[in-house]
Order: sequence, then structure tokens, then C-alpha cells
Amino acid sequence: MARYTGATCRLCRREGMKLFLKGDRCYTDKCAFARRSYAPGQHGQSRKKISNYGTQLREKQKAKRIYGVLEGQFRTYYEKAEKMRGITGENLLKLLELRLDNVTYRLGYGNSRVEARQLVTHGHFLVNGKKVDIPSYKVSANDVITVCEKSKSKEKFKVFAENPKTLPKWLQSNPENFEGKVISEPTREDIDVPVNETLIVELYSK
Ligand code: SF4
Repeated sequence: MARYTGATCRLCRREGMKLFLKGDRCYTDKCAFARRSYAPGQHGQSRKKISNYGTQLREKQKAKRIYGVLEGQFRTYYEKAEKMRGITGENLLKLLELRLDNVTYRLGYGNSRVEARQLVTHGHFLVNGKKVDIPSYKVSANDVITVCEKSKSKEKFKVFAENPKTLPKWLQSNPENFEGKVISEPTREDIDVPVNETLIVELYSK
């Protein structure tokens, strides 16, 4: 699948906030946004009045970039969210949260979603005992995600297991067994991404 191959830190600078796309580096003074907190490019430092459309567009771009999803796939998520019961914007975020790469990241496997995504594509995880190497795979309530037997002995996974992350309440983890479980689907309150999903819905509803 095609993916963005440009400079990652430009994305944070474009969105005017830290999106934490590079793991540990984001917490150091090497963070490009900490050093240059203005948009990239020749006119990055000039003040611009942003239109309603511009605000909505930026919100959509931000969500895409946080979850590492490209335009076509993002729109497909939106169309699915629209058909679901409930509030479209919240459904959209819920679908993005339930991606396997995001869930493994939340469980502590990877310092960024990009790293977690790579671990998924390299076939390190099982969902309910079956190998799944598709980052966009949608997990469901009661699914059990485990690190495959061969990978458990890898140094990287040992480090992840020894440094468990704070989990959102819709996930459960048993790091000693390299196992995580989806207790329920997340609600909007469980999703801590700095995105105003209503603006994304307004953009796509035009
Ligand atoms: Fe964004 Fe992380 Fe790069 Fe900082 S280091 S600009 S937070 S990706």
C-alpha cells in the first residue's frame, strides 16, 4: 500500500502541534516542532487567516496523520462511520482506534504507531490465536492479541513487556504473557487524540 514517505516532522509543523509520530524522539529536545513551531516552507512563518474550510481540512489531515491513514482509506472509514448507528464523528474515531496497529501501539508494542504498524506487518502478532499481519485489521470486543511464540524471545519485545504503558480502560494487558485483550469498544471519552471530529464530519458532508 502507498504511504507517506516525506519528512515526518513536517507533518507536526504543518498541523501546528506535536503529533508524536516518532516515538522517543518526540520527548527530547531534538523534536523539530519544539525547535521550529511554525509551518514548513517559505511562507511558514507568515500569518494567514484560515477559512472555515481550512480549519475543517486541517482537522481531517491531523486525524489521518495521527493514525497513519491515507486519504482513500480515511474516506472509506468515514463512509462506514456514516452507516453505523450513533454519532458519525465518534464512530469514525472508534474505527480508527480499533485498527490492529493502533491497538498494539496502545498495548505498548512500539513507541509510535509507525513502529507498531511495522511490527504488525512483520507478522509478530496473533489475534485469537491466528497470525494477522494487516495493520488495518479491525479488532472487536473480546479479541485477544498475543505476540507470536518466536517473537517473545526478541529483545525488543522483552523491553516492551518490562515497560508497560498506561492503558485506556477498554484494553487489558498481561505483559508477562505478552498478551492483551480488547474488553470493549472504546467510547469517545476513552480516545485521547486531540481531534475535533465534528469538523471532519462537516468537511465530508459538504
Ligand atoms: Fe512531531 Fe515527534 Fe517530529 Fe516532534 S519529533 S515534530 S512530535 S514527529
